[in-house]
Amino acid sequence: MTDDPRVEIYTKTNCPYCEKAEALFDEKGVDYVTYNVTGDEELFAEMKERADGRETAPEVFVDDELVGGWDDTHALEEAGELDEKLGLVTDGGSETSDEDRAGGGDAAGEEDVVEHRKLVVTGTGIAALTAGIYAARSNNDPLLFEGDEPGGQLTLTTDVENYPGFPEGISGPDLINDMKAQAERFGADIEHGVVEAVDDSVRPFRVELSNGDVYTADAVIAASGASARTLGIPGEDELMGYGVSTCATCDGAFFRGEDMVVVGGGDAAAEEASFLTKFADTVYLVHRRDELRAEDYWEDRVQQHVDDGDIQVLWNTEAVEVNGTPEDGVSDVTLVRHPEGHPTAKLDDEATEQFSLNVGAFFVAIGHTPNTEYLEDTGVELDDEGYILTQGGKGGGQTKTDVPGIFGAGDVVDYHYQQAVTAAGMGCKAAIDADDYLEGEVSAAAGEGGEAAPADD
Ligand code: NDP
Repeated sequence: MTDDPRVEIYTKTNCPYCEKAEALFDEKGVDYVTYNVTGDEELFAEMKERADGRETAPEVFVDDELVGGWDDTHALEEAGELDEKLGLVTDGGSETSDEDRAGGGDAAGEEDVVEHRKLVVTGTGIAALTAGIYAARSNNDPLLFEGDEPGGQLTLTTDVENYPGFPEGISGPDLINDMKAQAERFGADIEHGVVEAVDDSVRPFRVELSNGDVYTADAVIAASGASARTLGIPGEDELMGYGVSTCATCDGAFFRGEDMVVVGGGDAAAEEASFLTKFADTVYLVHRRDELRAEDYWEDRVQQHVDDGDIQVLWNTEAVEVNGTPEDGVSDVTLVRHPEGHPTAKLDDEATEQFSLNVGAFFVAIGHTPNTEYLEDTGVELDDEGYILTQGGKGGGQTKTDVPGIFGAGDVVDYHYQQAVTAAGMGCKAAIDADDYLEGEVSAAAGEGGEAAPADD
């Protein structure tokens, strides 16, 4: 074993990705120090300098060497290189120090299965956690895999004001943490792991993680949520973390006093623009049409900020390039506008005008893509965008997929309602549907002398 690694994490208050980074090191039993840069300009400047100009928290260092933000840390973990950096590998070099990987061999046979569970749930967002609570209470021994975005979309929300039972509202991270504690109280297990594939050609299902671990499960609830979409315009990727962000809650405070752009016209964009007025000089809400699709409540909030001079809405406008450098951050954004909207589809039209805005930050809030890649090779039917197509179920439960024993809940299914409370409702239904299925399996197995039936397809 090498000397203990020195892990340092620059964090900020209300920073879900910082919590994710800390949770990862907690899980590994690795000590670390945190420096909270919120409201401390000197510390923020120190972080920026050590992190090669990056202005987003967390920034993780191991033995003085920059690992990066949550995405970089997570990518290193997925590549199996974080343990190496932390000195957690044995002398053999390639295996982690976790001795109890069952078998440890290379063959993809029975012996490499880490564990068998009655029920595996992908995700730890609100649908997954609700499924965990119900499944644990039904003695279905659920194991929840926490992937790249622990806690899901709600951890990126400041105040949840429409979740029933909280008259004063509750913060997204608090709601998720309480639900985790509730699921664990009833016996649900939560482990870090990105599910890469589910093999539905065998029973029990094989659940394969990106680190190579394989679990088996009698039933699977897919509740892995959705990830933020980006525009795919020049400058966006290069400046992600340097002034471009998909999370106003996480990064807004870093750009205090600057002008900022938010792209989108839904609830998320309206909420983020409203939130950013706390820090920004002016928030430019850039929307490709001439009306928002946000609910009335958010439209009214935006209108109030427009009246107060904090938000300026740029109708019928789209961003075509974000300009700047990682060293100096975002300098300006190039935009196009057409009086009838969707200007990027009308670039050759003489009514389309191009202009630029000097801003210090650029937030993208244009919806999400469901995280269902790991189901692509299964019999589970997905629509063109990757949403799971579920079937009625008892009472219109809508969590059964085409593969008996695999269920879907939350944002992997629901492209319409997408509310915390509807996700919770679906998580509950999926756990009840899975319980019915598992009871049927047990009866069938008993009838067949204890052998689980092989897959049909
Ligand atoms: P939405 O799908 O509702 O809105 C996405 C917005 O982005 C639309 O206005 C869309 O424009 C625009 N857009 C999409 N693609 C592009 C593109 N390539 N270029 C420019 N603009 C683009 O997503 P949200 O994330 O806002 O909301 C998703 C769900 O989550 C909703 O059901 C919402 O109610 C819920 N939600 C609720 C919140 C709350 O109540 N606190 C907060 C956040 C989300 P167009 O309108 O032209 O299609």
